[in-house]
Amino acid sequence: MYLKKIEVQGFKSFANKIVFQFHNGITGIVGPNGSGKSNVADAVRWVLGEQSAKQLRGASMQDVIFAGTENRKPLGYAYVAITLDNSDKKLPVEYEEVTVARRVYRSGESEYLLNGTSCRLKDVNELFYDTGIGKEGYSIIGQGQIDKILSGKPEDRRELFDEAVGIVKFKRRKHTAQKK
Ligand code: ATP
Ligand code: MG
Repeated sequence: MYLKKIEVQGFKSFANKIVFQFHNGITGIVGPNGSGKSNVADAVRWVLGEQSAKQLRGASMQDVIFAGTENRKPLGYAYVAITLDNSDKKLPVEYEEVTVARRVYRSGESEYLLNGTSCRLKDVNELFYDTGIGKEGYSIIGQGQIDKILSGKPEDRRELFDEAVGIVKFKRRKHTAQKK
């Protein structure tokens, strides 16, 4: 499984629709300060369900919507879609390609889509349990996060290992069963 494509439109500094294509392997994103490199990582975090404006380096959740520049009007919504190659079926769905998308309007109205079909954030979360992908996963390691992991509580560190060995889904199921 690997990240094939990131599509952004109206997200942070990306007013126009932009498609980043990746291949299996390592890709670096380079550019001058303020050109939007970190915004690309924020886009991935956001589409995976990030709910914290602070994690996205903003004050409110609406700050992810393109706010306009001197010669360009603000936009009314932000849209991000990521496409993963799933030909090895690491994700528990039959599709060879999985696209997760999120859209939010200034009104606050928002939606998630899985391969084009509207879904809940819960569905997105469940799809990525035990893969390391997801906003709590270790596939996105932000600045300062390594320090947090090293100096964090053992219970928090344990969560990373649970995810890596693939037992998160069982723990969640147990938790849900016990609640019922
Ligand atoms: P550095 O090398 O300094 O880390 P970077 O390439 O990571 O820079 P980013 O932090 O991704 O840069 O991009 C910052 C730019 O994104 C700023 O110019 C900021 O004005 C712009 N930006 C952030 N949010 C929005 C928004 N909602 N609308 C328009 N522009 C935005
Ligand atoms: Mg940056």
